[in-house]
Amino acid sequence: MTRRHWMNLFAAFGFASRAAGPAQAADTAAMPGTPSIEPLKLDDAQWQQRLTSAQYRVLRHEGTERAGTSPLNDEKRKGTYHCAGCDLALFTSAMKFDSGTGWPSFFTTLPGVFGTTTDHLLFMPRTEYHCARCGGHHGHVFNDGPAPTGKRYCNNGVALNFKAST
Ligand SMILES: [Zn+2]
Repeated sequence: MTRRHWMNLFAAFGFASRAAGPAQAADTAAMPGTPSIEPLKLDDAQWQQRLTSAQYRVLRHEGTERAGTSPLNDEKRKGTYHCAGCDLALFTSAMKFDSGTGWPSFFTTLPGVFGTTTDHLLFMPRTEYHCARCGGHHGHVFNDGPAPTGKRYCNNGVALNFKAST
C-alpha cells in the first residue's frame, strides 16, 4: 500500500479533509492516546479449535456470511458486541443502526479496537477492518452511514458475540 494510493482513495471518496481527523477512529495507529491492546496470537490449528467453522472462515480468512443470516440483525437489546475471536468489546448497542443490508451495522466503534487495510477483492477498493487484539476480520467500513459519523461498519454477525447488559 503506497501513500499515493491512499491519497487517491481518499480523493475518490471526497473525504481527504477527514483523513487526519477524529472520524478515522478505526485507525489504531493514529490514536496514540488509546490504551494499548495486548495482541492475541494463535496458530492456525489453535484458531480452528477455538472457533466454529463459520467463525473461522470469516475471522481468519476474510469470509463474508450470507446477508440476512445473523440473528444479531434483529438484536435490539442494550448491551455490548464482543469479538468472537478474543472477546474484546468492539461496539455498544447505542452504536448500532438498522442499515437494511442484512448485516449488523454500526456507525462508530469503541476507541482503538480496529485496524484497517484496503482490499481489492471486488471491483473497487474497500476498507477492511479487523480486531486490534486478535487480527480477526470483521467486515468493511463504508462512508454511507448515518450522522453523526457518516460511517457504516458492516459487520459479519458470526464474528460477534452479543452480551446483554443486566
Ligand atoms: Zn478479536
